[in-house]
Parts: sequence; C-alpha cells; structure tokens
Amino acid sequence: ATESIGPNARCQYHAGVTDCLFCRIVAGEIPATVVAETDTTLAFRDIDPKAPTHVLVIPKEHHREIGDVDPALAGQVLATAHQVAKSEGIDSSGYRLVFNTGRDGGQTVFHVHCHVLGGRGLTWPPG
Ligand code: IMP
Repeated sequence: ATESIGPNARCQYHAGVTDCLFCRIVAGEIPATVVAETDTTLAFRDIDPKAPTHVLVIPKEHHREIGDVDPALAGQVLATAHQVAKSEGIDSSGYRLVFNTGRDGGQTVFHVHCHVLGGRGLTWPPG
C-alpha cells in the first residue's frame, strides 16, 4: 500500500532518502522558522544569517540543484522569494536572490534553495 503523504509525495525523503536536511524540515522533523509556505514551496530563516534578512526558499519536492527543477516549479520558488522580499519589507530597498550551485558555487546543502538576502547594502562581487 502507498502511504498518503500529501504535498510531499514526491519528496525523496519519503521514498527512503533519510539524509536530506531540507526534506526533513519539509516533513516537520527538524524545526525551522517558516516565513512563507505554498502548496509547492517553503520559506524559512537561514540558521546562520549573512544579512538582516536571510531566508531560504525551497521547493518541497526534492531536487539537488536548480538545473534539475522543472521551469514551472522554479518559477514558483522565485514567486515565493519575491513574496518574502515584500513581507520582509526589502522589496523597495533591494535584495539579492542566490542559488549556490555545485562545488565552485559553494553549495553545501544538496536540496535546491534560493537565498533571499537583504536589509543592508550587499557588496559585489561575491567572494
Ligand atoms: P548553501 O551553502 O548555498 O548550500 O546554503 C546552505 C544554507 O543552509 C547555509 O546558508 C546554512 O546556514 C543553511 N542551513 C544549514 N542548516 C540549516 C538549518 O537547519 N536550518 C536553516 N538553515 C540551515
């Protein structure tokens, strides 16, 4: 029998992959400060913030990196990121969306996530 697991039905965590931190946050097994949620996305505060606003937006579905994400779902992640920028009050002052990808991109958690950074002047280029 297939267990009914709702919006997380395609999460690899529920298919037996137990080592994905962000899937475990989606599943409610690890606490997070959630600031926005849709059927397909979740936004929560980064545990080690690099700016006054530092929120991570993820698809609830497990995908390793942005290149693996269906364009429609990627658009939903971006729409949630913009909603977070608005609710954080940084949409008019400006903010930065970042997908660290792979080794050279500095990715450390391999469940795709969009960093929403703002609340101060951000420097360029990144390190
Ligand atoms: P990456 O380096 O682009 O893969 O970003 C991973 C981010 O996840 C980092 O900014 C971490 O601070 C953040 N992070 C790691 N563990 C947790 C957690 O348990 N809750 C929230 N954020 C986390």
